[in-house]
Amino acid sequence: MSLAQRMASRFVAGECADDAVKAIRALNARRINATLDHLGESVTNEAEASRAADDYVFVLGKISSASVCSNVSIKLTQFGLTLGEDVCLRNVRRVLSAASRLNNFVRIDMEGSDYTEATLRVFRTLHTEFDNVGVVLQAYLYRTADDLQALVAEGARIRLCKGAYDEPPEKASPKKRDVDANFEQLARVLLDHARDLPPITPGGHFPPLPALATHDARLVAAAQAYAAQIGLPPEYYEFQMLHGIRRELQDQLAAQGYGVRVYVPYGTEWYPYYMRRLAERPANVWFFLSYLFRR
Ligand SMILES: Cc1cc2nc3c(=O)[nH]c(=O)nc-3n(C[C@H](O)[C@H](O)[C@H](O)COP(=O)(O)OP(=O)(O)OC[C@H]3O[C@@H](n4cnc5c(N)ncnc54)[C@H](O)[C@@H]3O)c2cc1C
Repeated sequence: MSLAQRMASRFVAGECADDAVKAIRALNARRINATLDHLGESVTNEAEASRAADDYVFVLGKISSASVCSNVSIKLTQFGLTLGEDVCLRNVRRVLSAASRLNNFVRIDMEGSDYTEATLRVFRTLHTEFDNVGVVLQAYLYRTADDLQALVAEGARIRLCKGAYDEPPEKASPKKRDVDANFEQLARVLLDHARDLPPITPGGHFPPLPALATHDARLVAAAQAYAAQIGLPPEYYEFQMLHGIRRELQDQLAAQGYGVRVYVPYGTEWYPYYMRRLAERPANVWFFLSYLFRR
């Protein structure tokens, strides 16, 4: 195992589906759900895109046969988005059909802003055909307030995150303070909307419950306070975090009875994912460099 691989293992559950299932089992034992990401993005031919769908169909079967609590997260460029939306739709439909048969759910991650428009278009098409699909919006993009209003009106199930890609200032707010403020505001819109949902019944359906994906304890507390203020019970929304980050906050929320879901990436294509984790926190780079110098 290379040094970079060893460092990445903090964030990545392993290389194969069995590693991922083991990580999910450990999360479930802590009363935490998972969402599984088979790492990979930007495929360059249709065979690779189709193989990505095969892999996800396989892992959905694994989740079911292992009886672990996890859904899956996918990136559309892994399913051929850059080769054509028809290619991508064909592959993702296969995954959604398999998930549907197994009563499971598929979340479409949001990638860089070059793909926002196409990702939302593909999501909207699929959302008219399947009820077990959701999408992600990024608080750093200026367009997100409008996207979010439109999507909640369409009954979309949304995960809100801050955004992890290097974006130009014309499209995304360069100031962390502004991104945080926007996240807080957009989370309120999602929570307001969740209050209008019919009562949740176990089994079968996938109501558009919002997911707040952040490790920012201040934003978590702000969402909890707002939900309490409007009388929204904890089962109407969930917090989501990444494997290997803020484990104590995950446990604390789970112990308080909040829904917590951890994003569990696995696979051999870990490099771009690891680089995004390094980039969003300079301390990680220092940790990496000091490790190198200690050797
Ligand atoms: C479940 C989930 C799904 C996501 N899906 C997407 C997606 O589809 N598209 C997308 O663009 N982004 C996605 N992201 C990433 C997200 O956009 C942010 O880049 C990431 O979550 C860091 O932002 P933060 O909200 O945690 O806040 P920050 O203010 O960045 O961090 C708050 C605190 O969390 C901890 N922390 C955060 N990041 C790290 C790190 N890398 N290493 C160590 N500690 C860290 C630190 O303690 C930090 O002080 C997702 C995040 C989560 C949790």
